Amino acid sequence: MASIETVLPGSTVRTTLGSLGAAGVYLIRSGEDRILYDTGHPGRKKILFREMGKLKINFKDVNYVVISHLHWDHALNVSLFNSSKIIIDKKELEEDSEDEYPRVSLLSDYIRQLDVRYVSNGTKIADANEVSVISSPGHTAGHISLAVRTGEAVDIITGDSLPNARAMHRGEPDLIFFDKRAAINSVKAILSYKPGIIYPGHDSPFSLEPQLTYLSEIKFGVTYRTEGEEDYDVVFSREPSKKSYF
Ligand SMILES: [Zn+2]
Repeated sequence: MASIETVLPGSTVRTTLGSLGAAGVYLIRSGEDRILYDTGHPGRKKILFREMGKLKINFKDVNYVVISHLHWDHALNVSLFNSSKIIIDKKELEEDSEDEYPRVSLLSDYIRQLDVRYVSNGTKIADANEVSVISSPGHTAGHISLAVRTGEAVDIITGDSLPNARAMHRGEPDLIFFDKRAAINSVKAILSYKPGIIYPGHDSPFSLEPQLTYLSEIKFGVTYRTEGEEDYDVVFSREPSKKSYF
């Protein structure tokens, strides 16, 4: 059976300095295949190397890199995987989303030159037939998620079609750059699988039954460095917040 591990945790963090862009990066082991879902951005490259090392995965061991969509926080480290097959929906390269991020046309052009396999809803990835594509547009035009058979249950890696648990409660993602109706239908399509565990784009993995439960503690630190002075560390851990400050 296939397994899923978190390589880089995803989170939805807003700061007065802008977005940290912490998209979830996940590794699937299926038979002999090693599939990476999303890559993160260059600001997380060092941590990506460290965590891949901990999982004893060499970058060359990754046969497939799935690009959920072309937003910078999910896709920019694709340049580290030039011996992998790149899995993407062609619509993501061709159709414009109404996008507050600049369209990453350089990234589209770069990806077209790689060993690309274009996929659509239901396409199986890897040999063991345990991993298949769920087309989940709305957030962007060609967004894709993955259904992974990990045992009796099917777990789903959702990307930004279902970026966090809050989006699940609302029935739509926080940010929609392409089509609201499609985004709502994508959430319905994902939930119709009755997933055991959801691995979201910007949150920690959670199970849905008997109630929504996070599988791990949420905790991360920020260090503020000042020249010639002491560093200032702040550690965040999961406590419900009554109020959003940003
Ligand atoms: Zn996105």
